Amino acid sequence: MTRIRPTARSFAVLTAAFALFAPALSVRSQSTSAPAVAMALSREEKSAAKDVDERDIREFTIELAAPAMEGRATGAPGGERAAAAIAAHLAKAGLKPGGDNGTFMQLVPFVARTVSPETTFEVGGTKLAFGKDYVLAPPLPAEVKRVEAEAVLAGYGVVSEELKRDDFAGLDVKGKVVLLIAGRPAGVDEKAWAKASGQMSVMTNVVSRGAAGIVVVGFSGGSRPFASIADYLSRRSVALAGAQGMSLPLPPIVLTGTEGARSIFAAAGMNFDEVSAKASAGEAVSKALGLTAKLVAAADRKEVKGSNVVAVLPGSDPVLAKQAVVITAHYDAYGMSVGGGVYAGAADNALGVAQLMAIAKAASRARPKRTMVFLAVCGEEHGLLGAKYWTEHPTWPIADIAANLNFDGIGTEIYGPVERIVGFGGEFSSLGPQLEAVATAFGARVIADPMPEEKAFLRSDHYEFVKKGVPALMLLGAPGGDEQQWIARAKKWLETDYHQVTDVVRDDWNWRGAKTTASIALVVALRVANAADVPVWNADSKWQRAAPTSDGRPAPGA
Ligand SMILES: [Zn+2]
Repeated sequence: MTRIRPTARSFAVLTAAFALFAPALSVRSQSTSAPAVAMALSREEKSAAKDVDERDIREFTIELAAPAMEGRATGAPGGERAAAAIAAHLAKAGLKPGGDNGTFMQLVPFVARTVSPETTFEVGGTKLAFGKDYVLAPPLPAEVKRVEAEAVLAGYGVVSEELKRDDFAGLDVKGKVVLLIAGRPAGVDEKAWAKASGQMSVMTNVVSRGAAGIVVVGFSGGSRPFASIADYLSRRSVALAGAQGMSLPLPPIVLTGTEGARSIFAAAGMNFDEVSAKASAGEAVSKALGLTAKLVAAADRKEVKGSNVVAVLPGSDPVLAKQAVVITAHYDAYGMSVGGGVYAGAADNALGVAQLMAIAKAASRARPKRTMVFLAVCGEEHGLLGAKYWTEHPTWPIADIAANLNFDGIGTEIYGPVERIVGFGGEFSSLGPQLEAVATAFGARVIADPMPEEKAFLRSDHYEFVKKGVPALMLLGAPGGDEQQWIARAKKWLETDYHQVTDVVRDDWNWRGAKTTASIALVVALRVANAADVPVWNADSKWQRAAPTSDGRPAPGA
Protein backbone atom coordinates (compact mmCIF):
# COMPACT_ATOMS: atom_id res chain seq x y z
CA MET A 1 0.00 0.00 0.00
CA THR A 2 1.03 3.52 -0.52
CA ARG A 3 1.75 5.46 2.64
CA ILE A 4 -0.20 8.37 3.96
CA ARG A 5 2.29 11.18 3.74
CA PRO A 6 2.65 13.79 6.44
CA THR A 7 2.37 16.79 4.15
CA ALA A 8 0.00 19.67 4.12
CA ARG A 9 -1.08 18.80 0.62
CA SER A 10 -1.70 15.13 1.13
CA PHE A 11 -3.47 15.81 4.42
CA ALA A 12 -5.72 18.23 2.65
CA VAL A 13 -6.30 15.83 -0.22
CA LEU A 14 -6.95 12.97 2.17
CA THR A 15 -9.35 14.96 4.25
CA ALA A 16 -11.24 15.92 1.13
CA ALA A 17 -11.23 12.32 -0.04
CA PHE A 18 -12.65 11.17 3.26
CA ALA A 19 -15.32 13.79 3.36
CA LEU A 20 -16.52 12.49 0.01
CA PHE A 21 -16.08 8.94 1.00
CA ALA A 22 -17.43 8.65 4.48
CA PRO A 23 -21.10 8.27 3.59
CA ALA A 24 -20.32 5.71 0.90
CA LEU A 25 -18.20 3.67 3.25
CA SER A 26 -20.86 3.45 5.90
CA VAL A 27 -23.47 2.18 3.45
CA ARG A 28 -23.56 -1.60 3.34
CA SER A 29 -26.01 -1.69 0.55
CA GLN A 30 -27.75 -4.63 -0.99
CA SER A 31 -27.24 -5.12 -4.64
CA THR A 32 -30.47 -5.28 -6.56
CA SER A 33 -28.89 -6.43 -9.79
CA ALA A 34 -26.25 -8.91 -8.67
CA PRO A 35 -26.22 -12.02 -10.81
CA ALA A 36 -26.96 -15.39 -9.25
CA VAL A 37 -23.74 -17.00 -8.08
CA ALA A 38 -22.76 -20.62 -7.83
CA MET A 39 -21.74 -21.66 -4.34
CA ALA A 40 -19.76 -24.74 -5.37
CA LEU A 41 -16.71 -24.98 -7.60
CA SER A 42 -17.07 -26.54 -11.03
CA ARG A 43 -14.67 -29.24 -12.15
CA GLU A 44 -12.80 -26.68 -14.33
CA GLU A 45 -12.54 -24.27 -11.42
CA LYS A 46 -11.19 -26.97 -9.14
CA SER A 47 -8.61 -27.91 -11.71
CA ALA A 48 -7.62 -24.26 -12.29
CA ALA A 49 -7.25 -23.72 -8.53
CA LYS A 50 -5.03 -26.77 -8.35
CA ASP A 51 -2.81 -25.28 -11.05
CA VAL A 52 -1.94 -22.33 -8.79
CA ASP A 53 1.50 -23.48 -7.82
CA GLU A 54 2.43 -22.86 -4.20
CA ARG A 55 6.12 -23.36 -4.95
CA ASP A 56 5.94 -20.78 -7.74
CA ILE A 57 4.51 -18.22 -5.33
CA ARG A 58 7.31 -18.91 -2.90
CA GLU A 59 10.07 -18.83 -5.52
CA PHE A 60 8.76 -15.68 -7.27
CA THR A 61 8.45 -13.88 -3.94
CA ILE A 62 11.99 -14.81 -2.95
CA GLU A 63 13.32 -13.81 -6.37
CA LEU A 64 11.68 -10.37 -6.26
CA ALA A 65 12.66 -9.70 -2.65
CA ALA A 66 16.30 -10.72 -3.24
CA PRO A 67 19.11 -8.19 -2.69
CA ALA A 68 19.88 -8.33 -6.44
CA MET A 69 16.61 -6.45 -7.06
CA GLU A 70 17.88 -3.58 -4.88
CA GLY A 71 14.46 -2.88 -3.44
CA ARG A 72 12.78 -2.51 -6.88
CA ALA A 73 12.76 1.28 -6.84
CA THR A 74 10.63 2.88 -9.54
CA GLY A 75 12.69 3.98 -12.52
CA ALA A 76 15.93 2.65 -10.99
CA PRO A 77 18.05 -0.28 -12.24
CA GLY A 78 16.73 -2.65 -9.55
CA GLY A 79 13.13 -1.84 -10.41
CA GLU A 80 13.77 -2.34 -14.11
CA ARG A 81 15.46 -5.67 -13.36
CA ALA A 82 12.37 -6.78 -11.46
CA ALA A 83 10.11 -5.67 -14.33
CA ALA A 84 12.19 -7.69 -16.79
CA ALA A 85 12.05 -10.76 -14.54
CA ILE A 86 8.26 -10.49 -14.19
CA ALA A 87 7.86 -10.12 -17.97
CA ALA A 88 10.07 -13.16 -18.54
CA HIS A 89 7.95 -15.29 -16.21
CA LEU A 90 4.70 -14.14 -17.82
CA ALA A 91 6.10 -14.80 -21.31
CA LYS A 92 7.13 -18.27 -20.22
CA ALA A 93 3.57 -18.86 -18.99
CA GLY A 94 2.45 -18.28 -22.57
CA LEU A 95 1.07 -14.75 -22.21
CA LYS A 96 1.34 -12.13 -24.96
CA PRO A 97 2.95 -8.70 -24.68
CA GLY A 98 0.41 -6.02 -23.79
CA GLY A 99 2.64 -2.97 -23.41
CA ASP A 100 4.12 -0.42 -25.83
CA ASN A 101 5.01 -1.44 -29.40
CA GLY A 102 4.54 -5.15 -28.98
CA THR A 103 6.59 -5.36 -25.77
CA PHE A 104 5.66 -6.37 -22.25
CA MET A 105 6.54 -2.89 -20.98
CA GLN A 106 4.62 0.33 -20.82
CA LEU A 107 7.22 3.01 -20.14
CA VAL A 108 6.17 5.60 -17.59
CA PRO A 109 8.04 8.94 -17.45
CA PHE A 110 8.93 10.04 -13.93
CA VAL A 111 10.92 12.75 -12.24
CA ALA A 112 12.97 11.34 -9.36
CA ARG A 113 14.15 13.63 -6.60
CA THR A 114 16.55 13.09 -3.75
CA VAL A 115 17.61 15.60 -1.11
CA SER A 116 20.98 16.99 -2.15
CA PRO A 117 23.95 16.87 0.26
CA GLU A 118 24.08 20.63 -0.28
CA THR A 119 21.10 20.90 2.06
CA THR A 120 22.02 22.44 5.43
CA PHE A 121 20.21 24.04 8.32
CA GLU A 122 21.65 25.96 11.24
CA VAL A 123 20.32 28.33 13.86
CA GLY A 124 22.59 30.71 15.76
CA GLY A 125 25.62 28.75 14.58
CA THR A 126 24.24 25.41 15.78
CA LYS A 127 24.17 23.00 12.86
CA LEU A 128 21.41 20.41 12.72
CA ALA A 129 21.81 16.96 11.19
CA PHE A 130 19.68 16.21 8.13
CA GLY A 131 17.54 13.10 8.50
CA LYS A 132 18.07 13.00 12.24
CA ASP A 133 17.30 16.46 13.63
CA TYR A 134 15.38 17.76 10.66
CA VAL A 135 14.00 17.02 7.20
CA LEU A 136 12.48 19.08 4.42
CA ALA A 137 8.72 18.93 4.02
CA PRO A 138 7.68 17.78 0.55
CA PRO A 139 7.58 18.66 -2.22
CA LEU A 140 11.35 19.01 -2.59
CA PRO A 141 12.34 22.35 -4.14
CA ALA A 142 12.70 22.51 -7.93
CA GLU A 143 15.70 24.81 -7.49
CA VAL A 144 18.09 25.53 -4.63
CA LYS A 145 16.52 27.73 -1.99
CA ARG A 146 18.77 29.74 0.31
CA VAL A 147 17.42 31.62 3.28
CA GLU A 148 19.38 33.55 5.87
CA ALA A 149 17.18 35.51 8.22
CA GLU A 150 16.23 36.23 11.80
CA ALA A 151 14.38 33.40 13.57
CA VAL A 152 11.06 34.24 15.26
CA LEU A 153 8.76 31.96 17.17
CA ALA A 154 5.07 32.34 16.28
CA GLY A 155 3.51 29.90 18.75
CA TYR A 156 1.26 27.44 16.95
CA GLY A 157 0.79 29.86 14.07
CA VAL A 158 -2.93 30.05 14.82
CA VAL A 159 -5.19 33.07 14.35
CA SER A 160 -8.79 32.69 15.47
CA GLU A 161 -11.42 35.15 16.62
CA GLU A 162 -13.42 32.31 18.08
CA LEU A 163 -10.47 31.31 20.24
CA LYS A 164 -9.51 34.96 20.85
CA ARG A 165 -6.08 34.03 19.71
CA ASP A 166 -3.47 35.63 17.46
CA ASP A 167 -0.08 33.96 17.62
CA PHE A 168 1.31 36.71 15.35
CA ALA A 169 0.20 39.67 17.51
CA GLY A 170 2.99 42.23 17.81
CA LEU A 171 5.32 40.00 15.81
CA ASP A 172 7.00 40.99 12.57
CA VAL A 173 7.57 37.86 10.51
CA LYS A 174 8.14 39.44 7.12
CA GLY A 175 11.34 38.09 5.57
CA LYS A 176 11.99 36.03 8.73
CA VAL A 177 12.32 32.33 9.40
CA VAL A 178 9.18 31.49 11.37
CA LEU A 179 9.25 28.74 13.98
CA LEU A 180 5.97 27.02 14.75
CA ILE A 181 5.26 24.64 17.60
CA ALA A 182 3.56 21.42 16.58
CA GLY A 183 0.66 20.21 18.68
CA ARG A 184 -2.01 22.13 20.53
CA PRO A 185 -2.69 23.75 23.87
CA ALA A 186 -4.51 21.84 26.58
CA GLY A 187 -8.16 22.62 27.35
CA VAL A 188 -8.84 24.47 24.12
CA ASP A 189 -12.22 24.12 22.38
CA GLU A 190 -11.57 21.17 20.10
CA LYS A 191 -13.83 22.15 17.24
CA ALA A 192 -12.62 25.72 17.08
CA TRP A 193 -9.02 24.57 17.33
CA ALA A 194 -9.44 22.03 14.55
CA LYS A 195 -10.90 24.74 12.35
CA ALA A 196 -8.12 27.24 13.00
CA SER A 197 -5.10 24.95 13.20
CA GLY A 198 -5.39 22.95 9.98
CA GLN A 199 -2.10 22.77 8.13
CA MET A 200 -3.46 24.85 5.28
CA SER A 201 -4.75 27.58 7.63
CA VAL A 202 -1.48 27.77 9.52
CA MET A 203 0.62 27.79 6.34
CA THR A 204 -1.61 30.50 4.90
CA ASN A 205 -1.17 32.56 8.09
CA VAL A 206 2.60 32.37 7.80
CA VAL A 207 2.93 32.75 4.04
CA SER A 208 0.52 35.68 3.79
CA ARG A 209 2.63 37.51 6.38
CA GLY A 210 5.70 37.19 4.17
CA ALA A 211 7.76 34.55 5.97
CA ALA A 212 10.98 33.57 4.17
CA GLY A 213 11.15 30.13 5.74
CA ILE A 214 9.11 27.93 8.06
CA VAL A 215 10.37 25.57 10.74
CA VAL A 216 7.89 23.29 12.48
CA VAL A 217 9.49 22.35 15.80
CA GLY A 218 8.71 19.17 17.68
CA PHE A 219 6.89 17.70 14.66
CA SER A 220 5.29 14.31 14.84
CA GLY A 221 2.72 12.74 12.59
CA GLY A 222 -0.01 11.61 14.94
CA SER A 223 1.16 8.33 16.43
CA ARG A 224 4.26 8.14 14.26
CA PRO A 225 7.54 9.15 15.90
CA PHE A 226 9.64 11.81 14.20
CA ALA A 227 12.36 9.28 13.36
CA SER A 228 9.90 7.37 11.21
CA ILE A 229 8.71 10.49 9.41
CA ALA A 230 12.29 11.65 8.92
CA ASP A 231 13.15 8.27 7.47
CA TYR A 232 10.36 8.53 4.88
CA LEU A 233 11.09 12.10 3.98
CA SER A 234 14.79 11.38 3.49
CA ARG A 235 14.03 8.82 0.81
CA ARG A 236 14.17 9.26 -2.94
CA SER A 237 10.77 10.20 -4.29
CA VAL A 238 9.27 10.01 -7.74
CA ALA A 239 6.44 11.92 -9.40
CA LEU A 240 4.87 11.48 -12.81
CA ALA A 241 6.68 13.72 -15.28
CA GLY A 242 4.62 16.81 -15.99
CA ALA A 243 2.51 16.36 -12.87
CA GLN A 244 1.24 19.61 -11.43
CA GLY A 245 3.05 20.26 -8.18
CA MET A 246 1.72 22.45 -5.43
CA SER A 247 0.66 25.72 -6.99
CA LEU A 248 1.23 27.79 -3.84
CA PRO A 249 4.54 29.64 -3.87
CA LEU A 250 5.68 28.27 -0.53
CA PRO A 251 8.87 29.17 1.27
CA PRO A 252 10.99 26.16 2.25
CA ILE A 253 9.53 24.21 5.18
CA VAL A 254 11.74 22.40 7.68
CA LEU A 255 10.38 19.80 10.09
CA THR A 256 12.30 19.10 13.27
CA GLY A 257 11.72 16.51 15.96
CA THR A 258 12.03 17.16 19.66
CA GLU A 259 15.82 16.75 19.65
CA GLY A 260 16.25 19.20 16.79
CA ALA A 261 13.91 21.64 18.54
CA ARG A 262 15.96 21.38 21.75
CA SER A 263 19.17 22.26 19.84
CA ILE A 264 17.55 25.30 18.24
CA PHE A 265 16.18 26.69 21.49
CA ALA A 266 19.40 25.92 23.36
CA ALA A 267 21.24 28.10 20.84
CA ALA A 268 18.93 30.92 21.90
CA GLY A 269 19.55 30.20 25.59
CA MET A 270 16.05 28.79 25.93
CA ASN A 271 14.66 25.43 26.91
CA PHE A 272 12.33 23.95 24.30
CA ASP A 273 10.51 21.70 26.75
CA GLU A 274 9.71 24.70 28.96
CA VAL A 275 8.54 26.80 26.03
CA SER A 276 6.48 23.95 24.73
CA ALA A 277 4.92 23.37 28.17
CA LYS A 278 4.07 27.07 28.47
CA ALA A 279 2.46 27.05 25.04
CA SER A 280 0.53 23.95 25.96
CA ALA A 281 -0.69 25.66 29.15
CA GLY A 282 -2.12 28.44 27.00
CA GLU A 283 0.57 31.08 27.58
CA ALA A 284 1.69 33.28 24.72
CA VAL A 285 5.20 32.27 23.67
CA SER A 286 5.62 34.16 20.39
CA LYS A 287 8.85 36.20 20.25
CA ALA A 288 11.93 36.92 18.19
CA LEU A 289 14.74 34.56 19.15
CA GLY A 290 17.52 37.03 18.39
CA LEU A 291 19.33 34.48 16.25
CA THR A 292 19.98 34.00 12.58
CA ALA A 293 18.67 30.89 10.86
CA LYS A 294 20.47 29.69 7.74
CA LEU A 295 18.83 27.21 5.43
CA VAL A 296 19.92 25.73 2.13
CA ALA A 297 17.26 23.45 0.68
CA ALA A 298 18.34 21.60 -2.44
CA ALA A 299 17.29 18.51 -4.34
CA ASP A 300 18.83 16.50 -7.14
CA ARG A 301 16.36 15.97 -9.96
CA LYS A 302 16.54 13.26 -12.56
CA GLU A 303 14.18 12.28 -15.35
CA VAL A 304 13.75 8.52 -15.35
CA LYS A 305 11.54 5.92 -16.98
CA GLY A 306 9.74 3.28 -14.97
CA SER A 307 7.97 0.26 -16.44
CA ASN A 308 4.49 -1.15 -16.03
CA VAL A 309 4.60 -4.81 -17.02
CA VAL A 310 1.58 -5.74 -19.15
CA ALA A 311 0.87 -9.31 -20.23
CA VAL A 312 -2.27 -10.47 -22.02
CA LEU A 313 -4.02 -13.82 -21.99
CA PRO A 314 -6.34 -13.53 -25.02
CA GLY A 315 -9.90 -14.65 -24.39
CA SER A 316 -11.12 -17.83 -26.09
CA ASP A 317 -14.56 -16.47 -27.05
CA PRO A 318 -14.52 -14.40 -30.25
CA VAL A 319 -17.06 -11.89 -28.91
CA LEU A 320 -16.30 -11.75 -25.19
CA ALA A 321 -12.52 -11.62 -25.81
CA LYS A 322 -12.88 -7.88 -26.46
CA GLN A 323 -13.47 -7.42 -22.77
CA ALA A 324 -10.83 -8.04 -20.16
CA VAL A 325 -10.41 -8.80 -16.50
CA VAL A 326 -7.37 -6.92 -15.23
CA ILE A 327 -5.30 -8.40 -12.40
CA THR A 328 -2.95 -5.92 -10.76
CA ALA A 329 -0.15 -5.91 -8.19
CA HIS A 330 2.57 -3.31 -7.71
CA TYR A 331 6.11 -4.57 -7.88
CA ASP A 332 7.87 -1.43 -6.72
CA ALA A 333 9.34 -0.95 -3.27
CA TYR A 334 11.54 1.79 -1.80
CA GLY A 335 14.92 0.82 -3.26
CA MET A 336 18.00 1.13 -1.08
CA SER A 337 18.11 2.79 2.32
CA VAL A 338 20.55 5.61 3.08
CA GLY A 339 22.49 3.12 5.18
CA GLY A 340 22.84 0.72 2.23
CA GLY A 341 20.05 -1.65 3.29
CA VAL A 342 17.53 -3.07 0.83
CA TYR A 343 13.85 -2.30 1.11
CA ALA A 344 12.97 -5.83 0.05
CA GLY A 345 9.21 -5.23 0.14
CA ALA A 346 8.55 -8.94 0.56
CA ALA A 347 5.00 -8.88 1.93
CA ASP A 348 4.44 -5.48 0.31
CA ASN A 349 4.33 -6.48 -2.46
CA ALA A 350 6.67 -9.15 -3.89
CA LEU A 351 4.12 -11.62 -2.53
CA GLY A 352 1.25 -9.97 -4.40
CA VAL A 353 3.18 -9.98 -7.67
CA ALA A 354 4.12 -13.63 -7.15
CA GLN A 355 0.42 -14.42 -6.65
CA LEU A 356 -0.37 -12.51 -9.85
CA MET A 357 2.25 -14.53 -11.76
CA ALA A 358 0.99 -17.85 -10.36
CA ILE A 359 -2.58 -16.90 -11.34
CA ALA A 360 -1.42 -16.00 -14.86
CA LYS A 361 0.21 -19.38 -15.26
CA ALA A 362 -2.87 -21.26 -14.02
CA ALA A 363 -5.28 -19.05 -16.01
CA SER A 364 -3.41 -19.70 -19.25
CA ARG A 365 -4.38 -23.36 -18.96
CA ALA A 366 -8.01 -22.56 -18.09
CA ARG A 367 -8.74 -20.75 -21.39
CA PRO A 368 -11.17 -18.11 -20.07
CA LYS A 369 -13.70 -16.59 -22.50
CA ARG A 370 -12.84 -12.99 -21.78
CA THR A 371 -9.27 -11.74 -22.03
CA MET A 372 -7.18 -11.42 -18.89
CA VAL A 373 -4.65 -8.63 -18.55
CA PHE A 374 -1.91 -9.06 -15.97
CA LEU A 375 -0.54 -5.71 -14.94
CA ALA A 376 2.39 -5.39 -12.55
CA VAL A 377 2.75 -1.69 -11.92
CA CYS A 378 5.52 0.60 -10.71
CA GLY A 379 5.25 3.82 -8.71
CA GLU A 380 2.61 2.60 -6.28
CA GLU A 381 4.50 3.66 -3.17
CA HIS A 382 4.62 7.22 -4.46
CA GLY A 383 0.86 7.54 -4.84
CA LEU A 384 -0.46 4.76 -7.14
CA LEU A 385 1.43 6.42 -10.00
CA GLY A 386 1.97 3.42 -12.28
CA ALA A 387 -1.71 2.48 -12.09
CA LYS A 388 -2.70 6.09 -12.52
CA TYR A 389 -0.58 6.31 -15.66
CA TRP A 390 -1.97 3.05 -17.05
CA THR A 391 -5.58 4.07 -16.49
CA GLU A 392 -4.81 7.43 -18.12
CA HIS A 393 -2.98 5.71 -21.01
CA PRO A 394 -4.67 2.31 -21.01
CA THR A 395 -3.24 -0.42 -23.22
CA TRP A 396 -6.70 -2.05 -23.06
CA PRO A 397 -9.75 0.21 -23.46
CA ILE A 398 -11.12 1.15 -20.03
CA ALA A 399 -14.71 0.76 -21.27
CA ASP A 400 -13.90 -2.87 -22.06
CA ILE A 401 -12.52 -3.76 -18.64
CA ALA A 402 -14.95 -6.06 -16.91
CA ALA A 403 -13.32 -5.83 -13.48
CA ASN A 404 -10.05 -5.30 -11.65
CA LEU A 405 -8.70 -7.60 -8.97
CA ASN A 406 -5.74 -6.30 -7.00
CA PHE A 407 -3.17 -7.74 -4.64
CA ASP A 408 -1.38 -5.43 -2.27
CA GLY A 409 -0.96 -6.57 1.11
CA ILE A 410 0.28 -6.60 4.49
CA GLY A 411 0.87 -10.31 3.97
CA THR A 412 -1.60 -11.73 6.45
CA GLU A 413 -2.31 -14.65 4.12
CA ILE A 414 1.04 -16.19 5.05
CA TYR A 415 0.15 -16.27 8.77
CA GLY A 416 -1.42 -19.72 8.37
CA PRO A 417 -3.96 -21.65 6.32
CA VAL A 418 -6.38 -19.05 4.96
CA GLU A 419 -9.89 -19.22 6.38
CA ARG A 420 -10.85 -15.59 6.04
CA ILE A 421 -10.86 -13.20 3.11
CA VAL A 422 -11.15 -9.44 3.06
CA GLY A 423 -12.45 -8.10 -0.25
CA PHE A 424 -11.85 -4.38 -0.08
CA GLY A 425 -14.54 -2.70 -2.17
CA GLY A 426 -16.79 -5.75 -2.28
CA GLU A 427 -19.61 -3.83 -0.62
CA PHE A 428 -19.94 -1.55 -3.64
CA SER A 429 -20.45 -3.99 -6.52
CA SER A 430 -21.58 -7.44 -7.60
CA LEU A 431 -17.96 -8.55 -7.08
CA GLY A 432 -18.77 -8.75 -3.36
CA PRO A 433 -21.37 -11.55 -3.65
CA GLN A 434 -19.17 -13.14 -6.31
CA LEU A 435 -16.26 -13.29 -3.86
CA GLU A 436 -18.53 -14.49 -1.07
CA ALA A 437 -19.63 -17.49 -3.15
CA VAL A 438 -16.10 -18.45 -4.20
CA ALA A 439 -14.61 -17.97 -0.74
CA THR A 440 -17.34 -20.17 0.74
CA ALA A 441 -16.50 -22.89 -1.77
CA PHE A 442 -12.91 -22.72 -0.49
CA GLY A 443 -14.06 -23.02 3.10
CA ALA A 444 -13.18 -19.39 3.80
CA ARG A 445 -15.35 -16.63 5.17
CA VAL A 446 -15.49 -13.09 3.81
CA ILE A 447 -14.94 -10.68 6.68
CA ALA A 448 -15.16 -6.91 6.95
CA ASP A 449 -11.97 -4.86 6.83
CA PRO A 450 -10.37 -5.60 10.22
CA MET A 451 -8.44 -2.32 10.25
CA PRO A 452 -10.77 0.28 8.76
CA GLU A 453 -8.58 3.02 10.24
CA GLU A 454 -5.92 2.13 7.64
CA LYS A 455 -8.30 3.20 4.84
CA ALA A 456 -6.82 0.51 2.62
CA PHE A 457 -9.51 0.86 -0.04
CA LEU A 458 -8.15 4.28 -0.99
CA ARG A 459 -4.53 3.28 -0.85
CA SER A 460 -3.79 0.84 -3.61
CA ASP A 461 -3.84 0.49 -7.37
CA HIS A 462 -7.41 -0.81 -7.75
CA TYR A 463 -8.59 2.62 -6.65
CA GLU A 464 -7.38 4.14 -9.94
CA PHE A 465 -9.67 1.65 -11.72
CA VAL A 466 -12.55 2.48 -9.37
CA LYS A 467 -12.12 6.15 -10.26
CA LYS A 468 -12.56 5.18 -13.92
CA GLY A 469 -15.78 3.31 -13.16
CA VAL A 470 -14.36 -0.21 -13.18
CA PRO A 471 -15.70 -2.47 -10.39
CA ALA A 472 -12.71 -3.62 -8.37
CA LEU A 473 -11.68 -5.73 -5.43
CA MET A 474 -8.49 -5.89 -3.42
CA LEU A 475 -8.02 -9.26 -1.80
CA LEU A 476 -6.36 -10.08 1.47
CA GLY A 477 -6.31 -13.53 3.03
CA ALA A 478 -6.12 -14.20 6.75
CA PRO A 479 -5.93 -17.28 8.95
CA GLY A 480 -8.65 -18.85 11.05
CA GLY A 481 -8.64 -19.02 14.83
CA ASP A 482 -8.59 -16.02 17.12
CA GLU A 483 -9.10 -12.95 14.98
CA GLN A 484 -7.57 -10.62 17.55
CA GLN A 485 -4.36 -12.60 17.43
CA TRP A 486 -3.62 -12.11 13.75
CA ILE A 487 -4.87 -8.54 13.79
CA ALA A 488 -2.39 -7.86 16.59
CA ARG A 489 0.37 -9.49 14.54
CA ALA A 490 -0.58 -7.39 11.50
CA LYS A 491 -0.60 -4.20 13.56
CA LYS A 492 2.80 -4.99 14.98
CA TRP A 493 4.09 -5.68 11.48
CA LEU A 494 2.71 -2.35 10.30
CA GLU A 495 4.61 -0.65 13.09
CA THR A 496 7.94 -2.41 12.73
CA ASP A 497 8.34 -3.85 9.21
CA TYR A 498 5.98 -2.06 6.85
CA HIS A 499 8.04 -0.04 4.35
CA GLN A 500 11.19 -0.91 6.31
CA VAL A 501 14.26 -2.96 5.43
CA THR A 502 12.84 -5.66 7.71
CA ASP A 503 9.96 -6.48 5.32
CA VAL A 504 11.69 -9.69 4.22
CA VAL A 505 10.61 -13.27 3.53
CA ARG A 506 10.51 -15.22 6.81
CA ASP A 507 10.95 -18.93 7.43
CA ASP A 508 7.60 -19.21 9.17
CA TRP A 509 5.56 -17.99 6.18
CA ASN A 510 2.71 -20.31 5.31
CA TRP A 511 2.77 -20.46 1.51
CA ARG A 512 -0.39 -22.56 1.45
CA GLY A 513 -2.27 -19.49 2.68
CA ALA A 514 -0.89 -17.44 -0.21
CA LYS A 515 -1.96 -20.19 -2.62
CA THR A 516 -5.50 -20.26 -1.22
CA THR A 517 -5.83 -16.50 -1.57
CA ALA A 518 -4.49 -16.60 -5.13
CA SER A 519 -6.79 -19.52 -5.98
CA ILE A 520 -9.85 -17.67 -4.71
CA ALA A 521 -8.84 -14.67 -6.81
CA LEU A 522 -8.30 -16.89 -9.85
CA VAL A 523 -11.75 -18.45 -9.58
CA VAL A 524 -13.40 -15.05 -9.10
CA ALA A 525 -11.48 -13.83 -12.17
CA LEU A 526 -12.54 -16.88 -14.19
CA ARG A 527 -16.18 -16.45 -13.23
CA VAL A 528 -16.03 -12.81 -14.29
CA ALA A 529 -14.24 -13.83 -17.50
CA ASN A 530 -16.76 -16.54 -18.36
CA ALA A 531 -20.05 -14.94 -17.26
CA ALA A 532 -22.59 -13.62 -19.75
CA ASP A 533 -22.58 -10.19 -18.12
CA VAL A 534 -19.85 -8.08 -16.63
CA PRO A 535 -19.90 -7.09 -12.93
CA VAL A 536 -22.03 -4.13 -11.97
CA TRP A 537 -21.78 -1.45 -9.34
CA ASN A 538 -24.57 -1.47 -6.80
CA ALA A 539 -27.37 0.86 -7.82
CA ASP A 540 -26.59 3.23 -4.94
CA SER A 541 -22.84 3.24 -5.53
CA LYS A 542 -21.27 6.63 -6.20
CA TRP A 543 -19.27 4.95 -8.96
CA GLN A 544 -20.84 3.83 -12.19
CA ARG A 545 -19.37 2.82 -15.48
CA ALA A 546 -18.44 5.80 -17.59
CA ALA A 547 -18.85 4.57 -21.15
CA PRO A 548 -20.56 1.87 -23.15
CA THR A 549 -18.67 -1.34 -23.73
CA SER A 550 -17.24 -2.09 -27.14
CA ASP A 551 -20.06 -4.33 -28.27
CA GLY A 552 -22.27 -1.28 -28.33
CA ARG A 553 -24.50 -2.22 -25.40
CA PRO A 554 -25.00 0.47 -22.82
CA ALA A 555 -22.66 -0.17 -19.92
CA PRO A 556 -24.27 -2.13 -17.13
CA GLY A 557 -25.14 0.12 -14.25
CA ALA A 558 -24.70 3.29 -16.33
ZN1 LIG B 1 1.98 -2.00 -1.28
